[in-house]
Amino acid sequence: MFACNQATFQVKFLINITENSFSKIAEVTKKALSKIKNGNSDRITTASGFLSTVKKGSKKFRKVLENDFSKTNVLNLRQVKTLYKNIDVDPPYGEKNLKTILALWNLSYLPSDIRTFVFKSTSNTLGLGARVQHINPDIDPSCSFCKKCNRLPAPLESYLHFFFYCPTTFNIISKYAQKYIQPELTVEHFFLGTEDDSLFDNRMLILVNFILRYHLWAAKLKNSLPNINTIESDMAYTLGILCKTKKNFEEMLTSCRIFRQQGRG
Ligand SMILES: [Zn+2]
Repeated sequence: MFACNQATFQVKFLINITENSFSKIAEVTKKALSKIKNGNSDRITTASGFLSTVKKGSKKFRKVLENDFSKTNVLNLRQVKTLYKNIDVDPPYGEKNLKTILALWNLSYLPSDIRTFVFKSTSNTLGLGARVQHINPDIDPSCSFCKKCNRLPAPLESYLHFFFYCPTTFNIISKYAQKYIQPELTVEHFFLGTEDDSLFDNRMLILVNFILRYHLWAAKLKNSLPNINTIESDMAYTLGILCKTKKNFEEMLTSCRIFRQQGRG
């Protein structure tokens, strides 16, 4: 089981773990397994048995080794709690879509910069003003888009402001949603998908909205001010690449009930 890396492990078993802790656990487990294999241990016969002798922090890993994943409640994960807090939505809205959201960054067909963005979004490590100020109180934490548009004093660049309520952002995402996406544009739909029964439709909605936010983020990093035309062309470019690299992607997109047929850039 330790043939996977920390990232895959985290997504597969929905357990928060740092790279460092993962390698420590992987190392001791490997040693324990070889000990058992070589018959050097009379008492311990399984890896989970070995881990039960390691007191600190081994409970989660024993659960994994004992195949007890069904009891892992996704709503209890730290990054899920942070996600709800960041968008000011009460759980359990969108609970069934959470695994899709957490696993998204690991989709091999997504360009690596988008995967990094998704990972940073779900692990709350994007360099937004509000978060950076937490680390360095000397920086200006106000919204980059609002400053560029002279909406002064510019509001705090929080996750929810930057990706939804900022007038620059809201203007773009509402126009994009009107043109391409059918559900009503709400914070819940935009970040967590709908409570619609089709997980497939939600998966596409969540993916497309992540790509939309990625392009807003990329504009901030380039110190430019996006508008509906630049974002629409960015979206068409990225979705075009995905149609070429991922077999059936175009079909997946067009068969998704959430998107308007004339859309897709
Ligand atoms: Zn703003």
